[in-house]
Amino acid sequence: MRKKFELKTNDQIRKMRVAGLLTQKALANVRAAIKPGVTTLELDQIAEKTIRDGGGVPNFQLVPGYHHTICASVNSAVVHGIPSNRVLQAGDLVSVDCGALVDGWNGDSAFSIVVPGDDSDLAKQRQVQSDVCEGSLWAGIAALAKAKRLNEVGIAIEKYILDRGPYGILEQYVGHGIGRVMHEDPAVFNYRVRDAGPKVEPGLCVALEPMITAGDQKTFIQDDDWTVETSDGSDGAHWEHSVAVHDKGIWVLTAEDGGVAGLAPFGITPVPLD
Ligand code: MG
Ligand code: MG
Repeated sequence: MRKKFELKTNDQIRKMRVAGLLTQKALANVRAAIKPGVTTLELDQIAEKTIRDGGGVPNFQLVPGYHHTICASVNSAVVHGIPSNRVLQAGDLVSVDCGALVDGWNGDSAFSIVVPGDDSDLAKQRQVQSDVCEGSLWAGIAALAKAKRLNEVGIAIEKYILDRGPYGILEQYVGHGIGRVMHEDPAVFNYRVRDAGPKVEPGLCVALEPMITAGDQKTFIQDDDWTVETSDGSDGAHWEHSVAVHDKGIWVLTAEDGGVAGLAPFGITPVPLD
């Protein structure tokens, strides 16, 4: 039987927008600091300071057993990498995931980036992989804007990715509902599944987060009990936004412009509630 989940009111969505914007600010500050020589722990500190200065709480620290503000996953790590003294090198493919809790509501968002300063073919391939992953996120959000049932999103994400190359799409990790808790129902698949999924209706708030590899989709968890690493050692990329469906349209809560630029290529205009 399908679990129930809470549809949000417009006022609740406006509160989630505050959390979404603070999440985005933390990620923007992290992005600005990414260069050769920086450690992922330094990036974590930048994100934590941004969130606390903005009146929020780093919600990843509320996950039992996790003590950091971001996940930083480098090269063959796809998601859930723990910040450490690892020094980033030019050409590394880094995925940064972060969330803020503000006034009881959550944001959750992630981006991938190739550390500047390397113009090798490998660095270029990594950039293309990140671009495909990001594009698939927007394709999924654009599909959500028109979808009747939630699992139309995964069909759009999968098609976008596989039209662009033989990438692996992680199946053990998927997107999720978001609200008062960071991870709630419903699951948001990044690939086609048999079930049509729940109805897409006003108040549905979900985090879409495609995770792709340059090889096979199989992964394992490192000895640190967190880091999700590709089994074949291929590179991983991850992009994520928290999105609200409301009675007038959709709103990308963790994008500063509400999703205007990302959705434009798909002919979708997001509708802010503020
Ligand atoms: Mg996330
Ligand atoms: Mg998430």
